[in-house]
Amino acid sequence: MPSEAPAAEALLETRSLTKEFRGFKAVSDVSLGVAEGTVHALVGPNGAGKTTLFNLLTGFLTPSSGQIRYQGRDITGMQPEQIAHLGIARSFQITSLFDQMTLVEHLELALASPTGLGYRFWKSSKQMRQFRERSLELLEQVGLGDRAGQAAGSLAYGQKRALELALALALDPKLLLLDEPTAGMGMEDVDRTIALVKKVASGRTVIFVDHNMHVVGSLADTVTVLQSGQVLAEGTYEQVRNDEKVITAYLGQAGDAHV
Ligand code: ADP
Ligand code: MG
Repeated sequence: MPSEAPAAEALLETRSLTKEFRGFKAVSDVSLGVAEGTVHALVGPNGAGKTTLFNLLTGFLTPSSGQIRYQGRDITGMQPEQIAHLGIARSFQITSLFDQMTLVEHLELALASPTGLGYRFWKSSKQMRQFRERSLELLEQVGLGDRAGQAAGSLAYGQKRALELALALALDPKLLLLDEPTAGMGMEDVDRTIALVKKVASGRTVIFVDHNMHVVGSLADTVTVLQSGQVLAEGTYEQVRNDEKVITAYLGQAGDAHV
């Protein structure tokens, strides 16, 4: 069971955040408070606006209106690099892995890049050496310590996701955003990922999106349910799963009974 959410100031806050795509509101008037040190889940049917919200929080999209506040400061409209510098990181997509490159080389490049976003500077292997120890630590942390010298292309799916997580952790983020960390995983990898997220959540704040309610119930201190870009309900896992609006919304979603 998740621990009790500490009574803390919101580390991250959105105020009436809205993103329109040609008049269509993918995120609509979302006001969200994420308390420091908590694990916060975003759930909702496909198309609810979860990924768009992540893209707004990390600066990959600019809001149409509303505000994003982090550590009491307005960060609305900041560039992804600036936001990363403030300690907000998201898990990398598998497409950003290089099949031929070893795990430790991925980590070294992430550590060498000032923002962890992209591998802009191709440094000599000698320069990379300084990052070796930290790289190995990070791989150890996500359970890939014994595969440091392996090519990323040789990893199984769940291991690639763990490598992505290590790359996000290379920034030592204060706030970690994970978009569907268990998507496409079998039961065994799902449970391993739950344990891993619990471990890396210590001393951090985590926001994650997941469709698997076992994952949400195991990890989240607070759950926000989005539907059609709007907040439908918010509370503990127990509260939202018993919420009439949530039950109705999900029952109305034939074939998508995730709650
Ligand atoms: P979720 O992650 O909850 O499944 P998304 O945030 O990906 O939902 O999408 C929310 C809605 O916004 C969807 O209807 C999607 O088609 C639309 N959308 C997302 N990105 C764009 C875009 N770049 N242009 C137009 N519509 C978009
Ligand atoms: Mg999504």
